[in-house]
Amino acid sequence: MLLQGKKILITGVANDWSMAWAIAKRASEMGAEIAMSYAMPALEKRVRPLAESIGAKFVQECNVQNDEQMDALFANIEREWGHLDCVLHAIAFSDKNELTGRYADTTRDNFKNTMDISVYSLVDITRRASRLMSNGGSIVTLTYYGGEKSVPNYNVMGVAKSALDSSVRYLASDLGRDGIRINAISAGPIMTLASSGVGGFKAMLRLNAETTPLRRNMTLDDVSGAVMYLFSDLSSGVTGEIHHVDCGYSTTGMIPNEMKDILLKNLD
Ligand code: NAD
Repeated sequence: MLLQGKKILITGVANDWSMAWAIAKRASEMGAEIAMSYAMPALEKRVRPLAESIGAKFVQECNVQNDEQMDALFANIEREWGHLDCVLHAIAFSDKNELTGRYADTTRDNFKNTMDISVYSLVDITRRASRLMSNGGSIVTLTYYGGEKSVPNYNVMGVAKSALDSSVRYLASDLGRDGIRINAISAGPIMTLASSGVGGFKAMLRLNAETTPLRRNMTLDDVSGAVMYLFSDLSSGVTGEIHHVDCGYSTTGMIPNEMKDILLKNLD
């Protein structure tokens, strides 16, 4: 019961494939009380039964681009709980037509919208949540290696993840004096609604399974376990960190020998 009694807001559940759902379930199993938000009315029929299955305190629509809905979400948390211990930010969006082809072709409108939903939302949520974290707290966001290196098709979302990673460091610096920690998990690829919009994602998964040091893809348990650590007091001295949960992929500089042999044979 690592998270016994902690009050945790989970954003970004769209369905039972969502990383946020795996994290909500695991946190509830570890003793946390959960509140959940979802982006739009169409998602309610999927999200509400999930929330009810873990006895969530409440579940509420909140599009991060809608200030009234953001006000209402945090007012409800204050009314129901009075304070907040942890938040999961698991929100990203970009036009999928621009998650393929060249980054150079990104439109201004999609650039702005991607940054607003996927990056500014962390700043906004952190500012609002921090007002309720009178006893300190832990905020975790989900990022991806495509913000550190170029990854085919990830394009503007990679640029957004760079800004998200940087925001984690600046927010950690702002909030540390109040005992509020903020960290990111850089997760390896896993099939979800959001990731299925990235061009060539299935091929990326296949390749990843053969090339990570652990020779497998990351699982939802891998990522939720790491978030439990960051939510809990076990990570009390950790903030501003980008923690990779990617079966080691980001630590390598070259594909493994057996894959190199296959590739070179095909080139001959
Ligand atoms: P997902 O589709 O289940 O979650 C993305 C969530 O963002 C959805 O719940 C969606 O409703 C929400 N969202 C989009 N626009 C929103 C808005 N305007 N307001 C509020 N919510 C909004 O997919 P996921 O893969 O679980 O994504 C969660 C996070 O994990 C994202 O930040 C994603 O970039 C990140 N991530 C995913 C992978 C992967 O391979 N799946 C890898 C690394 C990081």
